[in-house]
Amino acid sequence: MAGMRRADVVVVGGGVNGASTAYHLAARGMKNVLLLERRHLGSGATGKSGALVRMHYTNEAESRLALESLKIFRDFRNIVGGDCGFEPIGFLQIVPAGYEEALVRNVARQQRLGIATEAITPDRLRDLLPGARVDDVGAAAWEPDSGFADPNATTFAFAEAAQRLGVTLETGCEVTRIVTERGRVTGVETSAGPVMAPVVVLVPGAWAARLLTPLGLDFGLEPHRIQISIFRWPAGFHTRHCVVIDAVHHSWLRPEGEATTLIGVELGVAHADPDRFDEGVDPDFVAICRKALAARLPVFGDATMRGGWAGMIMMSADGRPIIDQIPSVAGLYCMLGDSGTSFKTSPAIGRGLAEWIVDGKPRTVDLTPFRSTRFAEGRPWQDEDNYGRERLTISR
Ligand SMILES: Cc1cc2nc3c(=O)[nH]c(=O)nc-3n(C[C@H](O)[C@H](O)[C@H](O)COP(=O)(O)OP(=O)(O)OC[C@H]3O[C@@H](n4cnc5c(N)ncnc54)[C@H](O)[C@@H]3O)c2cc1C
Repeated sequence: MAGMRRADVVVVGGGVNGASTAYHLAARGMKNVLLLERRHLGSGATGKSGALVRMHYTNEAESRLALESLKIFRDFRNIVGGDCGFEPIGFLQIVPAGYEEALVRNVARQQRLGIATEAITPDRLRDLLPGARVDDVGAAAWEPDSGFADPNATTFAFAEAAQRLGVTLETGCEVTRIVTERGRVTGVETSAGPVMAPVVVLVPGAWAARLLTPLGLDFGLEPHRIQISIFRWPAGFHTRHCVVIDAVHHSWLRPEGEATTLIGVELGVAHADPDRFDEGVDPDFVAICRKALAARLPVFGDATMRGGWAGMIMMSADGRPIIDQIPSVAGLYCMLGDSGTSFKTSPAIGRGLAEWIVDGKPRTVDLTPFRSTRFAEGRPWQDEDNYGRERLTISR
């Protein structure tokens, strides 16, 4: 149609995965990339993320994505440009009794991939996390090179780098429909009019359903509300401690700023409407967090709460992301069901999708385990060496 707006690729969603994908597309030479975000950059899960950057997973595929991403976080200024706020402060994975052998097998698997990690003794744990209670710990693993980043800064930096390479970014623009003809993508309709494009990358976080349903696509995705709370360090506590995932108390924590600790606790199912959810933290949740924090670092028993928030993630049916070229819709690529764990992997996810679109296949990491068809095949993801609450290892 004459006068119709055109793009070579439209990326739907300005979270960290959309921004990373747009950047990597442009970095691989793709021209005329349009990134559309219905609100503002980082307005979804990304802006609320705990942004832990750890390699410890109970499967190889996610560890690989995390490791390839760490290489980018570590050298962000040179590779992407700008500051992602990455702090390699170290990471501890703590598991309860009964999972000692599983942890050793996971660490060995990660070491084979080239990840800097080791299983450690309770004495070493006490040294690495001063003030910690260790008598309830079954086993622990240490990653000296891991840490956390600033999720908003990372997204802004990816988006700025993408724009420098020619990507057009439009915020306040909602994609209302993916347009297809005879089984292939031809463009999108938006709140600012239609755009023709042979390739669309769908990275819409918790808001995926309204774009997937009209295409007849149902992957069993569920939006969940996830909370965190922040506590002032009590008198006498001055340690800028490392990042911890504590599978004994189902919590994860990291320092936030100079004198506070940010903590999240797994509550299980918390299905919510992504268009009408409370962005604040629930009083009950604050009490649960204080208890979990004090269970590991007893000095926090009377710590002052200094804030908190809630964000929306999209859980997939097996708690692992879907990263794919949808086989039934040519030209449609997606990153769906972030499952609360896809900040740390966003550099490699964006890169993998860009390689797939530009070069015809993902080169850096094999994305087959993340395929959308695994549910229809009756082969949802299951890790042999999980830590007991496999389906609930979310939001960290
Ligand atoms: C409290 C909390 C703690 C977390 N902690 C961690 C952690 O420690 N480590 C970790 O790795 N991960 C963590 N996560 C998960 C991580 O933040 C997410 O997996 C990641 O940010 C997802 O990024 P995304 O770009 O895929 O999605 P989102 O950030 O949700 O972005 C999707 C974007 O798409 C836009 N959009 C949706 N529909 C449309 C449309 N139709 N048109 C235009 N735009 C649209 C939305 O407005 C949104 O900005 C946490 C999440 C939360 C909420």
